[in-house]
Amino acid sequence: MTFASHMDIALAEAQAAAQRGEVPVGAVVTSSDGTVIAQAGNRTRELNDPTAHAEILAIREACAALGQERLPDHDLYVTLEPCPMCAAAISFARIRRLYYGAADPKSGGVAQGARVFSHAQCHHMPEIYDGLSAEPASELLRKFFAGRRT
Ligand SMILES: [Zn+2]
Repeated sequence: MTFASHMDIALAEAQAAAQRGEVPVGAVVTSSDGTVIAQAGNRTRELNDPTAHAEILAIREACAALGQERLPDHDLYVTLEPCPMCAAAISFARIRRLYYGAADPKSGGVAQGARVFSHAQCHHMPEIYDGLSAEPASELLRKFFAGRRT
């Protein structure tokens, strides 16, 4: 099976989040054969919920759709390096592969900061692929935060 990135869908979700006034981050959950099970963008402001990050919403939606509490053999695409909360949720969900775009020096918890997956107390570490479509992902964030400052 050839690899097909679903980062374009995650980027579209990030774009849609920006249009709602949310931090532009998007996420997609796919099954082992590449079928899209769930897709989401940040909705923390809309839902008044600090945990409503794109990854959390996509994982919740995928679990609900499949009627199961874990997502083994499923992959998650997200435009930005997950924060510690989302990294922990990805571990709990038993996600098979994590693909992410831009690195997040400010809040990331995968390759820097808390490095959630590298702890002995972390019971599942996905395969991790970073830097996918990193440029358009960080460009969306740059534009969003630049627009807020003016
Ligand atoms: Zn997060």
